[in-house]
Amino acid sequence: MSEETSKPLNFIERTVKEDLASGKTPAIRTRFPPEPNGYLHIGHAKSIWLNFGLAQKFGGKCNLRMDDTNPEKEDEEYVEAIKADVQWLGYQWDGEVHYASDYFEQLYDWAVHLIEAGKAFVCDLNAEEMRTYRGNLTEAGKDSPFRTRSIEENLDLFARMRAGEFADGSRTLRVKIDMASPNINLRDPVIYRIKRATHHQTGDKWCIYPSYDYAHGQGDALEGITHSVCTLEFEVHRPLYDWFINNLPVPAQPHQYEFSRLNVNYTITSKRKLKQLVDEKHVDGWNDPRMPTVSGMRRRGYTPKAINDFCEMAGVTKVEGVVDVGMLEFAIREDLNEISPRAMCVLRPLKVTLTNYPEDQVETMTAPVHPQREEMGTREMPFCREVFIDQDDFLEEANKQFKRLVLGKRVRLRNSYVIEADEAIKDADGNIIEIRARVIEGTVGNNPEDGVKPKGVIHWVSARDNVDCEVRLYDRLFNDPAPDAGGKNFLDSINPGSLEILSGCKGEIGLAQATLEDRYQFEREGYFVLDSKYSTAEKPVFNRVIGLKDTWEKK
Ligand code: ATP
Ligand code: MG
Repeated sequence: MSEETSKPLNFIERTVKEDLASGKTPAIRTRFPPEPNGYLHIGHAKSIWLNFGLAQKFGGKCNLRMDDTNPEKEDEEYVEAIKADVQWLGYQWDGEVHYASDYFEQLYDWAVHLIEAGKAFVCDLNAEEMRTYRGNLTEAGKDSPFRTRSIEENLDLFARMRAGEFADGSRTLRVKIDMASPNINLRDPVIYRIKRATHHQTGDKWCIYPSYDYAHGQGDALEGITHSVCTLEFEVHRPLYDWFINNLPVPAQPHQYEFSRLNVNYTITSKRKLKQLVDEKHVDGWNDPRMPTVSGMRRRGYTPKAINDFCEMAGVTKVEGVVDVGMLEFAIREDLNEISPRAMCVLRPLKVTLTNYPEDQVETMTAPVHPQREEMGTREMPFCREVFIDQDDFLEEANKQFKRLVLGKRVRLRNSYVIEADEAIKDADGNIIEIRARVIEGTVGNNPEDGVKPKGVIHWVSARDNVDCEVRLYDRLFNDPAPDAGGKNFLDSINPGSLEILSGCKGEIGLAQATLEDRYQFEREGYFVLDSKYSTAEKPVFNRVIGLKDTWEKK
């Protein structure tokens, strides 16, 4: 998050600042509360940036709490992935990881407290009946016939619900608020359900589970959360959040604040749909480099800084909107341009034999690691009689717009000689398989003495000393800006060209030293990083993080 600069504060920051100034809270504590039912995505990154960032900015603390009230959909695998993702984004939670399930016993006791106060009752309506009784936006609901049960009966039934005497779904515990409330969330909401499901933290200890609404605010109070920040869909739940805080002997008075969720075009941010992409194998797991998951973006080569910068750029408001994915891509290019060493890699190699260059000669060419950052030093690459250039960088004939190699014309090999093409050698099918060319003497670092200047500069790699590698080119996973809007099936807009695998690519020799942490700018091609899943020492695999320019708008 931004340092204390002149940047205007967002509305949540302003609230925090006022609460600290007025002494309403001596110190702030926030929390990031994921449900461990999937991997974190770019929307969660925003919530992480906001919650941890608020704590950092105002000298407070941020907790990580697994909101684990729904055991059937949750898994320890997700718990571990969430922790790793938060840390990778650059944040550390205060103390141990918390779990809503840590509070199950306390929540149970508080439910008993509500029953004893005449504010909760065991209800025997089934799901269908409950729907009918609830009413709708224009019609008030009706009281459940079980609402008037005695406190004694409710205490007895609730204890037996916990003891496992009743079938799943046969009874619930509900709080008595107001069946005529215009806010449907206040129409005697259910706070406990019977569900025989093994929980990833508590095993088979419980067969009743609290609702999210009941667990969340009480967890906040128990952890001393001062500012409970969540997305706008919880705004209508806030009266219920406050109701529990006001009707229970909780140790603190947290407050909930809502901001609009991050939506990004060409992107899906629903865990359920992301899980479907994984389960149906449309992608290569949760960390497929095309996925908008934190682990996918990590494998793709995005940096934590770029993701956090993007979250900041997108801003914190209460206005629902869609952010252009180009903004995320911009943040990534900005960061990678700054930090990435340069390298040359020929993606579709075409051999060039330099007929006037001695067979056994090797020269060492030198180039800066980063053109604007001298402190990053220089790199060396061997030059010899055979080099590779990209197939796209040669044409037998071309107009003036083609500033690459053309028969009878000159081009500069980056950081090396100017060469002139003499002949294109073809196979039986007419495909060009080799170029014969000449180096122009004395042109390393100088223009040709005869005054005939090269048309452009292209990249190259020695055909004798290079790193043979696979390169994976990614494009947007969806070719519809709103893949799941208005009842559309998002599977219909999966971009069939979102992954292109090139093998036999030739990288400059220094790339043999690449580690999983290094991102490179392959000159003229984009930014690349080793793939953490498929790359090996024998066969490096590079992911294209992103191209040098935004080419999508043109398509
Ligand atoms: P689910 O439907 O599975 O509950 P969720 O997106 O709400 O999905 P949670 O794990 O409950 O997932 O989210 C954890 C936190 O991240 C919540 O506080 C939630 O408000 C926030 N969050 C989730 N999606 C976004 C988003 N797109 N933008 C900003 N914050 C988000
Ligand atoms: Mg949620």
